[in-house]
Amino acid sequence: MTDQPTPMMAQYLAIRAANPGALLFYRMGDFYEMFFDDAVAAAAALDIALTKRGTHEGQPIPMCGVPVHASEGYLLTLIRKGFRVAIAEQMEDPAEARKRGSKSVVARDVVRLVTPGTLTEESLLEARRHNYLAAFAQVRDEGALAWVDISTGAFQVMDCPLPRLAPELARLAPREVLANDRTLDEVVGDAGAALTDLHASAFDSGAGARRLCALYGVETLDGFGHFTRPELAAMGAIVDYLDMTQKGKLPLLRPPVREKAGGAMQIDAATRRNLELTQALSGGRDGSLLAAIDRTVTAPGARLLERRISAPSRDLALIHARHDAVAALANDPRLMADLRSALARVPDMDRALSRLALDRGGPRDLAGIRAGLAQGATIAARLPDDAPDVLREAATDLTGHEALVDVLDDALVAEPPLLARDGGFVAEGHDPELDQTRRLRDEGRGVIAGMQADYATLAGVPSLKIKHNNVLGYFIETTTTHAERMMAAPLNQTFIHRQTTANQIRFTTVELSELETRILNARDRALELERAVFDRLRAAVLAEAARIGQAARALAEIDVAAAFADLASGEGWVRPRVDDSRAFVITGGRHPVVERALRRKADSFVANDCDLTTGATPAIWLLTGPNMAGKSTFLRQNALIAVLAQAGAFVPARAAHLGLVSQLFSRVGAADDLARGRSTFMVEMVETAAILNQADDRALVILDEIGRGTSTWDGLSIAWAVMEHLHGLNRCRALFATHYHEMTALSAKLDGVENATVAVREWEGEVIFLHEVIKGAADRSYGVQVARLAGLPASVVDRARTVLDALEKGERQGASRPAALIDDLPLFRAVPPAPAPKSSALDARMKAVHPDSLTPREALDLIYELKSLT
Ligand code: ADP
Repeated sequence: MTDQPTPMMAQYLAIRAANPGALLFYRMGDFYEMFFDDAVAAAAALDIALTKRGTHEGQPIPMCGVPVHASEGYLLTLIRKGFRVAIAEQMEDPAEARKRGSKSVVARDVVRLVTPGTLTEESLLEARRHNYLAAFAQVRDEGALAWVDISTGAFQVMDCPLPRLAPELARLAPREVLANDRTLDEVVGDAGAALTDLHASAFDSGAGARRLCALYGVETLDGFGHFTRPELAAMGAIVDYLDMTQKGKLPLLRPPVREKAGGAMQIDAATRRNLELTQALSGGRDGSLLAAIDRTVTAPGARLLERRISAPSRDLALIHARHDAVAALANDPRLMADLRSALARVPDMDRALSRLALDRGGPRDLAGIRAGLAQGATIAARLPDDAPDVLREAATDLTGHEALVDVLDDALVAEPPLLARDGGFVAEGHDPELDQTRRLRDEGRGVIAGMQADYATLAGVPSLKIKHNNVLGYFIETTTTHAERMMAAPLNQTFIHRQTTANQIRFTTVELSELETRILNARDRALELERAVFDRLRAAVLAEAARIGQAARALAEIDVAAAFADLASGEGWVRPRVDDSRAFVITGGRHPVVERALRRKADSFVANDCDLTTGATPAIWLLTGPNMAGKSTFLRQNALIAVLAQAGAFVPARAAHLGLVSQLFSRVGAADDLARGRSTFMVEMVETAAILNQADDRALVILDEIGRGTSTWDGLSIAWAVMEHLHGLNRCRALFATHYHEMTALSAKLDGVENATVAVREWEGEVIFLHEVIKGAADRSYGVQVARLAGLPASVVDRARTVLDALEKGERQGASRPAALIDDLPLFRAVPPAPAPKSSALDARMKAVHPDSLTPREALDLIYELKSLT
């Protein structure tokens, strides 16, 4: 026989069934409880105790719970671990339910579905990063990507065919991606996001258009621009999903903005990773370009900076306007310092606004808007009339908010509490009725203090106290010994017995209950009045939402310009000249991240020039030089300078002249990508193919040791052919680092190719890295010397030198088979004779070696093996 579920369990199961795919937080008093599989999964994920409660179908029900007041931390952990959480609240006072009968259960319902892309709580969000929710829709061959940050209301959409999805996701780094296609799991996962697979109906473009019209209260979307069917589908899916997860309370969404194709420098995922634009290879923000240059003082400014670095502009006028603003501030250190100190006091208005819109905001959010707008006015007044356009426009957006600031200022205390619930945020003098009610309430409290003294005298019990708790309200308390007199005549006329506990007896009096009622009424009334004030203020703020949003953006804009200016003057960066040409001339360029790291070690960075404008187009530099000389650093610093210049910043160089870069590609001969189960070489070739297929003549291509993932001759041939393709077909600007010296011959054949090398000096058999890039080819690779620096045993180094000499001699004499040369080499000429048996083992092993077919990894293993034979 199966036992009937209790009414509560029946309610739980019904809510559970209605919310598949999410853990259910089921509110019971001061806890969110989880049951069954949810409890098992959550207990493991949160590392909390798993208990049991009752039985269901004869089995004990697993249960775990988290206290409501500490629930945000647990929520964050669950979201980070990839869960989604449905929050079911009690929708009525338990007393209401009791009135319906002893068996009835408190009404509960899911008020919100918490997912990675739909967070708004300050404690769940990273202040300095966006929290994007994206949706990808496909209609036939067309695709579109829409994204929203519900914590700020920014809503964007772009045309996005499937092949562009990975790079766009890499740029935006959304937390969650909606799609109706399970096969996107890997692409979405690679971008560090969670895929939420929705039913096809969520992506219906007709329904999407209707949802958007309803959301913005318009008849047609024409006012926002013309959208394609996949764009409507993607935006519609977002609105639908927000409606579902926020249970009808839609966040503030700004009208959708279509992102222009070609507005930003195209940078694919591999290039972003490789250049460590916003994330270091190790995973965190530390060590990235963004971390090295971020001097913003507000969270919205930091988020704008991340957007800029992730998507450097291709709009010349915009780039110039931004440079003008940076220049103006860098030239006026007083103004810059004033602005930055005013900005540092500006709270995050975007996020406050969005919490207010979702009705999750409190008085502190209102105060945040007040402070932000007030500081904004100060900042606008500080900007001179002849400031560059970017700053003037920002100043305009920051003015005209006085009326709202006055309203908020009049109504709110200086430092209001976080929550509206307990009141105490409306300033005195704002609402006469509220002031009067508060007086009544506070006087009542004073009267109670007097009453306690009176009753103590009357009862002859000096230790008598008037106390308060939530069950009894106000009561008189005394110890059992003293209570006897109070329960006898005549005192029992006044003191009415209420409760006996282990040591105390509690009483009330008619007078006390009356007073209590008055106090309670006054308190409730005061709360009610404060709530009404809150609602009024919230409505006043939301009515101005669009303009407040503009002011917030203006502040972020000024913050970024001032941060760039501070960086430029602090680090000696210069304004780059960016134009429509094909120039790429950098004088005295530096790598901002490496330079910082060296400075910490009190080392200095060697600045280097790069000139890809050799007169002939295309212009490619072929960079040779030993490992550790600084080839990769040089390659990357030039790419980063292009990113910074087009992001509107000054650049780490003595001078820079850049023709607009449309696409940026950077590849490194890969280290094994074992995690993804692809061979090094395959990854490298797939990525190189992408460049050769896509790079146009405005691209900048950085190739570092391409071809090193295969055997020497294969690698060399591939590198050679890639270079010819870049030169002949892509015709782009490129920097190509290689250790194949044979390639330096290309410069004689291809007119746009020049040789450059990183200078080293040899001194008493050791290499000294000068980190100086000079024209010409490296005379040799110094690999043997570098190996020695790395601590390879002297015998191996000596032997390597012998082999190298023979190989080089052979090459000069045109020997076709280097392996044959090695076969002929006397073994270990330079080492003391080894014991005969071992030497013959070595001999045999060496005979079996075919250097041509060795991968670098095998070569290394071989060295160890040889060592073990000596
Ligand atoms: P390669 O690519 O030639 O193997 P890297 O670019 O990785 O060499 O540089 C190796 C190290 O040399 C870097 O970690 C850095 O500390 C140092 N280095 C590189 N370039 C410079 C420079 N221009 N000035 C000073 N130190 C440099």
